[in-house]
Amino acid sequence: MSSPNFLKQLTGSFANPAAENPTVEMIEAAYQHHGLPFRYINFEVGPDKLADAVAGAKAMGFVGFNCSLPNKVEVIQYLDGLGESAAIMQAVNCAVNRGGKWIGENTDGKGFLASLEEVTSARGKSFVLFGAGGAARAISVEVALAGAASIRIVNRTKERAEQLATLLRERTSVQVDFDEWTNNYAIPANTDVVVNATSIGLFPNVAARLPLDVGSLRPQMVVADVIPNPLRTRLIADAEMAGCTVIDGLGMLVNQGVISIKYWTGVDVEPEVMRQRVIQVLGM
Ligand code: NDP
Repeated sequence: MSSPNFLKQLTGSFANPAAENPTVEMIEAAYQHHGLPFRYINFEVGPDKLADAVAGAKAMGFVGFNCSLPNKVEVIQYLDGLGESAAIMQAVNCAVNRGGKWIGENTDGKGFLASLEEVTSARGKSFVLFGAGGAARAISVEVALAGAASIRIVNRTKERAEQLATLLRERTSVQVDFDEWTNNYAIPANTDVVVNATSIGLFPNVAARLPLDVGSLRPQMVVADVIPNPLRTRLIADAEMAGCTVIDGLGMLVNQGVISIKYWTGVDVEPEVMRQRVIQVLGM
C-alpha cells in the first residue's frame, strides 16, 4: 500500500476586492470534478502587499496564481517573463511557474477567443469593438494575433480609443479604425463580429443598453458580450431578435479558467462543470 499524500498543489487569486469574484468556485469545481490534487484560494491583496504575496506564493510552492484588479500591471515586476499577448498588453492575469521561471500570461483575451472559436474563427474577420478598457485591449490583441482582418474601435472617450488603436497598429498587423460613438451607432453592414467590451449592462444595471441602432444588426453577424452577469444582456436579446449568432460573457469567463487550469495542471477540464457552478453560485 502506498503512503497517502496530504500535500495539495496550490493556486489562487490576488485581488482587491476579492470577495465578489466567483472564479474560485468554478476552478475548485473543475479540480473536484477531475479529481485533481489542487486547491484555489482567494486572497485580498492589493499592490501594497503584492511583492510579499508573490514571494509567499513562490516560497510555498504555488504552481500559479491569477491576478485581478488592481494588480494586473503591478505584478509584472515580480515575474521572470511574459507570454506574447501579455507582453503586448502589458497586463497579466495569470502567472505560471514553468520550471522555476514565473511567466505572466493574459487569459482574458484567450478566453474570449476560445468562446468565439466555438462558433467561428477570428481569422480574416471584420470586428466592431465597443470599449477601449482592459477587456477591449485583451480581446483586440488576441483576435489580432489570431489573424483578424480589421477592428473598428467604438469608445465613448476618444483618447482611449486612440491609445488602443496605436498599440494595435504598432504591435500587430490588424487594420484598425475608430469611430465616434454617436447616440445610435450603426454597425457597418460588412461587419462579421460585434463585441461589447464595455461594462454597460453589468449587474445590477441589467436594463442598460448600448447606444446602438439595433436595426443595423444583421443575421450573418456574430454578437458577443463580455458581461458575464446577467447571462442574457439587452445586447444579447436584441441580437437574438435580429437573428444573429450570440456569445454570452460567461463563456469568456469559463474559458479563462479552463486555460489557467491547463497552464497550471496540464489537464483539459470540462467547461460545462465550471459554467454550471457559476450559474448556481450567482443564482443566474
Ligand atoms: P475598464 O474600466 O478598463 O473599461 C470600461 C470600458 O467601458 C471603457 O471603454 C469605458 O469607456 C466603457 N464604458 C463604461 N461605461 C460606459 C457608458 N455608460 N457608456 C459608454 N461606455 C462606457 O473595464 P474592463 O475593460 O476591465 O471591463 C469591462 C467589462 O468587461 C466589465 O463589465 C467586466 O465585468 C467585463 N469583463 C468580463 C470578463 C469575462 O470573462 N466575461 C473579463 C474581463 C472583463 P470610457 O473609456 O469612455 O470610460
